Amino acid sequence: MLFRDVSEFLKEIEETTSRLDMTAKLAELYNKLSPTEAKELSYLLLGKLAPDYYGVELGIGMKLLFEALSMATGWEVEDVEKLYEKMGEVGELSQYLITKKKQSSLASRDLAVKDVYDALFKISSTSGQGSVMTKIKYAAELFNNSSPLEARYIARMLVNKLRAGIGEPTIMDALSWSKTGTKEDRELIERAYNISSDIGEVAKAFLEGKDLSKEFTIEVLRPIRPALAERLNSAEAIFAKLGKCAVEYKYDGFRMQVHKKGDLVSIFSRRLERMEGMFPDLVDSIKEMPYKDIVLEGEALAVNKKEGTFFSFQETMHRRRKYGIDEASEKWPLHLYAFDVMYVDGDALIDRPFKERRKVLESFLPFSNNIKLSHMEIAHNASDIKRVFDDALSKKLEGIMAKNLEAPYKAGKRGFSWIKLKKSYGKSVDTIDGVVVGYYRGSGARAKFGFGGLLVAVYDSERDEFQTIAKVGSGFTEEEMVRLRDMLSEIAIKKPDKRLNTVVEADVWVEPRYVVEVMFDEITKSKQHTAGNIDGQGYALRFPRFLKLRDDRDIYSITTVNEVLEMFAAQSSKK
Ligand code: AMP
Repeated sequence: MLFRDVSEFLKEIEETTSRLDMTAKLAELYNKLSPTEAKELSYLLLGKLAPDYYGVELGIGMKLLFEALSMATGWEVEDVEKLYEKMGEVGELSQYLITKKKQSSLASRDLAVKDVYDALFKISSTSGQGSVMTKIKYAAELFNNSSPLEARYIARMLVNKLRAGIGEPTIMDALSWSKTGTKEDRELIERAYNISSDIGEVAKAFLEGKDLSKEFTIEVLRPIRPALAERLNSAEAIFAKLGKCAVEYKYDGFRMQVHKKGDLVSIFSRRLERMEGMFPDLVDSIKEMPYKDIVLEGEALAVNKKEGTFFSFQETMHRRRKYGIDEASEKWPLHLYAFDVMYVDGDALIDRPFKERRKVLESFLPFSNNIKLSHMEIAHNASDIKRVFDDALSKKLEGIMAKNLEAPYKAGKRGFSWIKLKKSYGKSVDTIDGVVVGYYRGSGARAKFGFGGLLVAVYDSERDEFQTIAKVGSGFTEEEMVRLRDMLSEIAIKKPDKRLNTVVEADVWVEPRYVVEVMFDEITKSKQHTAGNIDGQGYALRFPRFLKLRDDRDIYSITTVNEVLEMFAAQSSKK
């Protein structure tokens, strides 16, 4: 398919305001693309060139974009920059410049989807000497061959600002729609995505008519999307839900998915980015484990050997670094507390009950001095759960995870197979993880930071949309305000994201990308916010304050509306 035709679709998608229309348009587009084009375009729509674990990032800096535009159009770089300052958006800028070229193009040709994808790939992955010039040349060549409308979208892709408001869930719906006109195949598609974490490959196989359930099985060194926990607020509620269950300590470090294939080791973060380079100490131990192939999951925590205690989450986070790794591993030695295993030597274990997977784990762990087993006990009643919970808190851990002994590993799903019970910070204080969807510029003392607070939303997984729950105006240090403003202004968008359902306004809307932990006193009903909205009455946080950025979280694994309703019910029953 020609990129010119794709651009027409992107324009229509840009102009729709309804999610449904957008999905239908995207489905129409998938019907016109070849399977390989569908794969490539799926990544591009998400602002990627490949799944995150490939480690190739799409995008070049603005300066290079201006140079490329200048080279392709004959405009002086300074004039391009000046015009950008006036127009403020690279897509419109590029569209305009291509219309007003000062030189005619040399032998221009039609661009196919593949041409655009390949060029973006080359541009993003070229490095080393002379790479700046190469990037500019390739980008200029793209502009040289593009119509004004194509340039609008190519430019946005080049600087990774497409911001189409399309996430993986929309892509999965659209794929299903493209074949059936309904969401009928969504579950099948989602299962394949959860096992492979590769939306592009799933799109390709689906459009090729392959049987996704056979095509996608666990592959060592390719991450599985992590299972997520629900939350309940008392040991009694957990026991009522699960009956006899496993209760584990909940460690507050960072989640790791470990893959071992012979001597090859990959460690994936919760967002499925590769991070084994940061943990040579763990990698050495993992290599020695007594199976050739292993996929397991655990939480890594830094331990204070002198005092025999755990370091805090903040201290542990010092291990997420690119430099000074050896010193950091001396200062903050990591222990991995393994809590699940999905694969050993040819055996995919994910569909087996948890109690069997745990037995497998116990058969080869603990291993070495840094790969441990998560502490686990079997609870026969609510007071057993409570006892492990108190025990965990006395060890300065954040709570417990109760697990259904019979449940399979539910990749990419939040469910009651795992239920967390967390310590509360005070009498009635709790926290949520929300996604930032907008921010306020700030007045008075805050004006100098250009930052007054955040508009934060939770996720409604059934309706597949973000719903606002709080304006967060306190809890920030001055450095945090500056940092947040800088990060957020980079991802500003003109209109609220299409995945957002909101009635309140923000000064600046942003693409949903950053997850923050917000502390609050209470959940109240409110007409201002859309979280859990039924008949114009949503839920809001009372006295929300910013705790921290959770850059380990992705936007679809934040607190859900169901959890908010659960918290509200628990709070009412306490009263
Ligand atoms: P939360 O992030 O509060 O939703 O809690 C879920 C997270 O707890 C998981 O993603 C893990 O990173 C972490 N975790 C800590 N200990 C355990 C455990 N024993 N079992 C499962 N998850 C755990």
